[in-house]
This record gives sequence, C-alpha cells and structure tokens, in this order.
Amino acid sequence: MAYVIAGDCCSDASCVAVCPMNSIHPSGGLDGLFIDPRTCIDCGACADVCPVGAAKPADQATPVEVELNRSHFASTPAVDALDLDTWEPPSFTVWTGGPRRVAVVGAGPAGMYATRELLLRSTAEVTVYDRLPVIGGLARFGVAPDHPMTKQIISTFSRIVDHPRVTWRPGAEVDASQLEGRYDAVVHAVGSCTSRRLGIPGEDLAGSCPASDVVAWYNNRPGFTDLPVALRGPRAVIIGNGNVALDLARLLVSDADRLAGLDIPPAVRAALATSGITEVVILARKGPEAAAYSASALRDLHTLEGVEVVFDLSPELDGPPLPGRRIVLHFNTMPTAWDPATGLSTSRGVVAAGNLFTAIGFVGRPVPGLPFDEALGIVPNEAGAVLGRPGHFVTGWIKRGARGGIGANKACAEETVRSLLTGAANLGLAGARM
Ligand SMILES: Cc1cc2nc3c(=O)[nH]c(=O)nc-3n(C[C@H](O)[C@H](O)[C@H](O)COP(=O)(O)OP(=O)(O)OC[C@H]3O[C@@H](n4cnc5c(N)ncnc54)[C@H](O)[C@@H]3O)c2cc1C
Repeated sequence: MAYVIAGDCCSDASCVAVCPMNSIHPSGGLDGLFIDPRTCIDCGACADVCPVGAAKPADQATPVEVELNRSHFASTPAVDALDLDTWEPPSFTVWTGGPRRVAVVGAGPAGMYATRELLLRSTAEVTVYDRLPVIGGLARFGVAPDHPMTKQIISTFSRIVDHPRVTWRPGAEVDASQLEGRYDAVVHAVGSCTSRRLGIPGEDLAGSCPASDVVAWYNNRPGFTDLPVALRGPRAVIIGNGNVALDLARLLVSDADRLAGLDIPPAVRAALATSGITEVVILARKGPEAAAYSASALRDLHTLEGVEVVFDLSPELDGPPLPGRRIVLHFNTMPTAWDPATGLSTSRGVVAAGNLFTAIGFVGRPVPGLPFDEALGIVPNEAGAVLGRPGHFVTGWIKRGARGGIGANKACAEETVRSLLTGAANLGLAGARM
C-alpha cells in the first residue's frame, strides 16, 4: 500500500526532502504534490513531516484521491526514482580532468546516498567498504520485517554498487588510518550502532538485553543467530519512547498467523510464536508530549488484529496481565532496577515481567584516526567535513547523531558530497593524494 497526497496539500515540499525514493513530484499546473505509487516504499516519512496531514496511507484516503495520485503518473514512463537510469548531468562537477579515487566506508543508507551523489556529481571512482557481507546497513538489519515495502529500497541501493565506477568490498572492516594515502577523499558512513545503556542495577542479568540485539536477531544479521536471552511470557517490558520500541512491541505480541507471513528465519518465528508473551509494556521516562514515535509508527500499532493498544495515563501501574494480547504505553516512569525473579522496579512500583528490553537510542563509536565527540557520539564536522582532518568526511548517523529515517540520509549525503567536491577545489586538494 503506497502513501498518497490527499486533501489540501500546502506544497511546502518538506515531504520531498525526506522521501528516500524521490517519489513525490509537483502536480504540473495544479496546486500541490503527488506520490508515485510505483516507487513509494510505504515508509511514512512524508506523513511524519507533512504540516497539514495531507500525506497519508492510501487506505485512509478516498478512492478519488488515490486515483488522482495514480493517474498523475499514468502517462510518464516508470523511471528509477533515484535517477539511476538517467544519471542526470552533474550540476556542480568540481573534479574534472580525470578520475579521482574516493572511498565510502559503510554501505548503509548514508553510504549509498553518498555514493550516488559522487557518481552523479563527479567523475570519481568510488570504492565502497562494509564490514558486513551485504549492503543496506539498518535498512536491511534494522527496519522491522513487517515493513517489507520499506526494505525494498535495498534493491535500489544494489543498483548503485553495480555501477561501473563502483568497486564493492564486502566483509571489509576499515578505518581512517588504513585508508590514508590510498584515496583522494574518504566518506565515513559507519552509522551509530551502540545501544545506550540504562545504567540501573541488574541491567546485565538474565532476561534483559538491548532492543538492538533483538532487532538484529529477528532480521537475521550475521553474528546474531541466537538471541542472548530466553523469551519469557506472559509480559515483557520495553524502555523507550521511539519507533524501535514500537517495532519490537509489534513483533513480540504477534501471533503465529501474523508471524507466518513475515520474512524471518524459521527459528526466530518459532521462538516468537512460543514465547508466551501476550503483553508488552512500553515505559517512557517522560510524558506523552516527549514521545519520539512517528505518527506512522503509532498508526501501525492500530493495524494489529486482535491486539489491544492502551495509552495508560493513570498513576497506577498494571497488575498481572489480563487475558488477550495487548500493548500498554506508560509514561512518566523511571526504571530503577531489574531482577529476573521479580521484574522491573520503577519509580511507581514493580512491573512483573520475564524480559526487559532497552530501546533508548544509539550512539556512534569512535572511528580510529578521526576526532570524536563523546558527549554527542558523533565525529565532529562542519557540513560533513571532519574538523581538523582534510580529505575525511562523514555522513548519516555518525555525522548528525542517531536520528532520522532512511530518507533523512539523502539530504545529509548531498550536503557532505557538496562539501567534499567544493571543498576540494577551495582547499586545493583536487589531484593531491592524502
Ligand atoms: C531498529 C531500527 C529500525 C529502523 N526502522 C526504520 C524504518 O522502518 N524506516 C526508516 O525510514 N528508518 C528506519 N530506521 C532508521 C534508518 O535505519 C537510519 O536512518 C539509517 O540506517 C542510518 O543510516 P547510516 O548509513 O548512517 O547507518 P547504518 O544503516 O547503520 O549503516 C552503517 C554501515 O556501516 C557499516 N560499518 C560500520 N563500521 C564500519 C567499518 N569500520 N568498516 C566498514 N563498514 C562499517 C555497517 O556495517 C553498516 O552497514 C531504523 C533504525 C533502527 C535502529
């Protein structure tokens, strides 16, 4: 199901900037924008930023509105949404006069968008490294398996590494110092993969683990074939107030029928189906006004058949789980200790639970050879140019912190590549090896 622009589009185009597939186009003569249903990957980024609520899932629009979006594109050929067919002429080529060598470290969304920009805007030969054997980063190993359309972006990214000016080096973990002297510039797109810790007693005891481990496990990420904790129903607690908490909650309360339709390893399906978890309590330390869930992620919760969604604003925490499947969102509650025998102690009492998952965000890890801002968990940079390290650039989550969906990395990479190309000219680096 694609998204559509319905009702009163304000044409401010904030949706255009975040669309990972460039699927949103002006209506040509009419007011407003339309979404190409042939390329929309259903990620909901447009709806999350639309100031007037005009971008919405097709099933929430009228048949006329859906048809308007479809018919707008009926007479145009189905082109690759990221211009990979046309490779439009560069608008600001700086490096001319022969190929230059650029390394991109990380084949997640940020690395892929940066590679695309380099191919579009320069004559550079690009070598893409990733420590994993496949491209995609968190688009492959983070996006939840019940969002298969969003994961389709991986096949578009694969066309980028197939380009004749790209050399793809899978399974290669590299750092700044290893690449020194071998390239004219290096773009570090290594993401932010370290889960923030709660810092409460018992956090490392049985039953407790970061949500990132569970996410990697259900997405079949290499090295995560076994979940580090046993799933123990009937209740699990997730600490966090963002989309990762909601992704995990949906998967944990899914029944066998829903799990059967998902592209997950058989062992994961069996473990989830037999976990006995029927209730997931999501605890946030702040109130609903501070929640970081996107509107589309919240809407997803309500599409779960047979699952009651409860926004519990009462001062009391739940007693024992009630019959049936349920996701309960609690706010203004501080976790204070985890005990595998009794559950989670909080500022408002004990929540009996068999598992504790923490989904309170990610931070980057230092990149050997580059400066690092410990407080922000990023490589300090100006518009993507690493401070004090000419020739080194960053993009994606390691540049701006662990926030924003796949599409947010598009504009981020554009800025970085613009700095790389124009900075090369300004600093006289073009042609000079580091
Ligand atoms: C659980 C989860 C679910 C998400 N779901 C969605 C969603 O449904 N929709 C959406 O729009 N966004 C979603 N996001 C956000 C989206 O995934 C991020 O915006 C995006 O992945 C960030 O891109 P990145 O390239 O900066 O980092 P990453 O995707 O993490 O990519 C970094 C890459 O660098 C590689 N790497 C790291 N270090 C090295 C090294 N030293 N050498 C070589 N390679 C290295 C890694 O293996 C990885 O492939 C989700 C995020 C998470 C955590």
